[in-house]
Amino acid sequence: MTRTLIIGGSVAGLVAALAFADLGHDVTVLERDANEAPDTVDQAHGDWQRPTVPQLHHSHAFGSLGTNLLRDRLPGVYQALVAAGAREIELGKAMPPTLADKTPHPDDAELRMLGSRRTTFELVLRQEALRKPGVSLRRGETVRGLTVADRGPTRVTGVVTKDGRTIEADLVIDASGRRSQGHEWLREHGLAEPELVAHSADITYYTRYYRALGQRPVGPLNRGFGAGGLWDHYTGVMFLGDNNTFAISFGILPDDTELKQMRSEDVFTAVVRATPLLAPWVAPEASVPISPVHAMAGLDNSLKLYGQDAQPVPGFLPVADAVCTTNPAFGRGVSLAIAHVLGLADLVREHPEPDAEQAALAAGLAGRTFRPWFEDAVRNDAGRARLWRATVAGQQLPPLPPDVLTFGTVAEAAATDEVVWRRLVRTMMSLDNPAGLYEDEEIRLRVKQAVAGSPPPFPAPDRATLVDIVRRAAG
Ligand SMILES: Cc1cc2nc3c(=O)[nH]c(=O)nc-3n(C[C@H](O)[C@H](O)[C@H](O)COP(=O)(O)OP(=O)(O)OC[C@H]3O[C@@H](n4cnc5c(N)ncnc54)[C@H](O)[C@@H]3O)c2cc1C
Repeated sequence: MTRTLIIGGSVAGLVAALAFADLGHDVTVLERDANEAPDTVDQAHGDWQRPTVPQLHHSHAFGSLGTNLLRDRLPGVYQALVAAGAREIELGKAMPPTLADKTPHPDDAELRMLGSRRTTFELVLRQEALRKPGVSLRRGETVRGLTVADRGPTRVTGVVTKDGRTIEADLVIDASGRRSQGHEWLREHGLAEPELVAHSADITYYTRYYRALGQRPVGPLNRGFGAGGLWDHYTGVMFLGDNNTFAISFGILPDDTELKQMRSEDVFTAVVRATPLLAPWVAPEASVPISPVHAMAGLDNSLKLYGQDAQPVPGFLPVADAVCTTNPAFGRGVSLAIAHVLGLADLVREHPEPDAEQAALAAGLAGRTFRPWFEDAVRNDAGRARLWRATVAGQQLPPLPPDVLTFGTVAEAAATDEVVWRRLVRTMMSLDNPAGLYEDEEIRLRVKQAVAGSPPPFPAPDRATLVDIVRRAAG
């Protein structure tokens, strides 16, 4: 039986545990975090200490690519999530209120999402993985390096833990996330390592969770899974969660010292109240806060792939955030993690021998899975950060050439044009390649017509007004 070690027991590691156990592998997950998972979803929200997964307490949109894969390939997990209170969301039945034509389309069946806190999602995944025959999870095991065959073809043969023990394996999957040290572990043995390309996502996040007091939405859901917008100096979105919870997250420039005061609960609340679509959700009769304000900075768009001439090392398969991270505002990380891991399991089913061919095929899969989304994120973030910096500095950018489409203008057009809306949503849900959206002639034309002369449907306060609101709330 193939012995598979998985480094990291979060989203990617747990999905890998389930998928590789289905291949008949004997799976051991090594998770550095020693804390036991709580029993219930509300305990997980309040008490689960996961210092190595700081995004655990930030809002997550569970997009269609990942949601559909869970439904089709891991239906037990999907059902367990719904049983734990996750909402099933059909975006085709929750089109923005600003669209005139809401006629259903056959492809809408694919536009499914789950509304869930990240803690709920991860807790259920862990419970399901631990129930699976052939899977074990060892908490408090930090991997510090790899072991490599000392004779025969070069191959990874296991891991070295923090306290110097070695654990042997036939296959090692690196699911240790955005801070993976995998490339350094390969370098220590003089082996080929993937090349890292990284750009700052130029965004800092602030998130607070709430529990709704009623069952009905208290405001328009222009995003189906929630409500919000992307404006000229910040973004703010409300995400529906499980069990009548919801989260509100803001993204600002990391060097926006004025809005950084949102770390304070009073300032955060004042900004929510000033932001269109979000304000009704924090009215005293609508909800109660159930968390402090969490902040997260230092976010990158990063990609680690082997160069064309490099020989990927057999027996070592990095997955998900250990290969690629994209700005969380695009809400893709979990979908891409699930797609990558399940794609890798299919590849290993076809090519079970951990040899050079398997390693080369896996390297190709990583490139196909992540590169288009990485490039899209870098392009969009550069344009968005340029606009935000200009607004913060009180400047106005010259208008873009008419043939250049940005995510912002497409999103604006999607509020009133249902064809643009469907194409944009399919891209946001990681179902269609992003390049196709911006290059499509029909979309270009429709976007131009939709945004020409019409004011944005939900304008946010301008810079000076919001700064004033923040200063007053900060006292
Ligand atoms: C603020 C924020 C918001 C986000 N919002 C969304 C969203 O809305 N939608 C979405 O799809 N994605 C979102 N993401 C991305 C998503 O969180 C990640 O893509 C996802 O968590 C990746 O899962 P992973 O298992 O690869 O890594 P992680 O979840 O980071 O897990 C890595 C695991 O490896 C363990 N580990 C690390 N090093 C070692 C070691 N040496 N030995 C043993 N164990 C180790 C860690 O303890 C951890 O458990 C967001 C990310 C951030 C930062």
